[in-house]
Amino acid sequence: MGAGRIYNCSNCGYEFTEMTGVGYMFPSEYNTCIENGRKGEYGEEIKKFLEEHPDGALNCEKISLVCEDCNELMTDYDFSMYLPKKNIRGVSSNSYYMPEELKAGFEKVADYEHKCEKCGGKMLRVNHRRKLNCPNCGERLGESVQKILWD
Ligand SMILES: [Zn+2]
Ligand SMILES: [Zn+2]
Repeated sequence: MGAGRIYNCSNCGYEFTEMTGVGYMFPSEYNTCIENGRKGEYGEEIKKFLEEHPDGALNCEKISLVCEDCNELMTDYDFSMYLPKKNIRGVSSNSYYMPEELKAGFEKVADYEHKCEKCGGKMLRVNHRRKLNCPNCGERLGESVQKILWD
């Protein structure tokens, strides 16, 4: 179960449902992410990182992102790049890592830069304390929080 947050525009009817976190399909999702990352589907930086670091891990938690330039909203994997801390044993035996495991046993080495699909602008993680504007018409978006079954 994920925590869902629904943003909607009372002016034009735009709606964005945020579905973040980690679902129960996470282990297989994680492996798909690593495979696709190795193939270069998420760009050169991640491809190179995984090639150079066989023990490298990615944060495959879903987050919501907002474009700095056009206010476009989307959900994507976080994809921060992590390496295991040297003094911790046994971390390499896992075939996948939950975001909490990364925070505990790994060191973040790089952030993944998300690009806006619409305008190519830089996307930032949505800060829930900040109000969002509608990507269509620029009005303030209203928000409601719901518990959503999303996988
Ligand atoms: Zn709108
Ligand atoms: Zn944009």
